[in-house]
Amino acid sequence: MSHAVIKCSQATMRNMQQHYQSYLQTKQPPGSLFTAKITGCTITAYQSRKVLFQGKQAEAEASLWREHPSTPSSHISSPSTTLDTDLSKLSMIGSDEVGTGDYFGPMVVTAAFISTQQLSHMQVLGLKDSKKLSDAHIQQLAEQIKPYITHHTLTLSNQKYNELKEQNLNQGKMKALMHNQALGLLLDKMQGVSYDGILIDQFCQPTVYFKYLQGQKHIIKDDVYFRTKAESVHLSVAAASIIARQRFLEVMQQLSASLELTLPKGAGATVDETAAQLIDTYGEAILQHYAKVHFANTNKAKARFHHN
Ligand code: MN
Repeated sequence: MSHAVIKCSQATMRNMQQHYQSYLQTKQPPGSLFTAKITGCTITAYQSRKVLFQGKQAEAEASLWREHPSTPSSHISSPSTTLDTDLSKLSMIGSDEVGTGDYFGPMVVTAAFISTQQLSHMQVLGLKDSKKLSDAHIQQLAEQIKPYITHHTLTLSNQKYNELKEQNLNQGKMKALMHNQALGLLLDKMQGVSYDGILIDQFCQPTVYFKYLQGQKHIIKDDVYFRTKAESVHLSVAAASIIARQRFLEVMQQLSASLELTLPKGAGATVDETAAQLIDTYGEAILQHYAKVHFANTNKAKARFHHN
């Protein structure tokens, strides 16, 4: 089994933890901060800020996080994935997803277009990754930017998500399908307006992304770039993440209202508690409509319920 070890800054460690949050494992080796398992790779981050990647995809995955690109014999093959293209000043379509690490609520993907002319206006607004903004700020920014730019949002309900999961689609594939579809629908809306490229906030290797899309009728692949932390590469991704987050919050509110309680975000202990409460009141089947039932929270909630 191949492996790779990299040493990271504190900031990269935090980004990593966030990046892998839906793939975290409960069993952790001593001295580790977290262990995550994705297709082809297990990632273990240590308190020493060393991170171990194990498995077939070890080197590819590690290369996403290397702060100083190591060898010239890089694994990056197609020209659209080289890291030296400065995209920040171009007319770009960005796409990002939210809700993937939240037990309750939908998965949302937004694609948004920001032209070079619009960029400076957007800079003034102070767009950032939605994860770094308060709910109120998201709301405010989303209302400001939505009338100004062309965007398209797709929402995958919990029920549909669970159905797809039941059909053995992993979350990565769902994301890829949604990004591709959102991009296609945005391009339709843009009606031929020219753009320099498409930037996807990278959640898997580009080769894996396109493998997920195999068999799709329309595959958006020309001028597609992938970057991790893409919201800091081009504001179109930051805008997409803000619009997607606003939709997520809106649906969470609707779901909460229908249950007459507040569904918590994330996947922590409060979530287990609320899930247990729902099982208690309505029976386990209710979770199909409100939660991503394959998350560990379901079993934790059931365990909690049985102890009551
Ligand atoms: Mn993202």
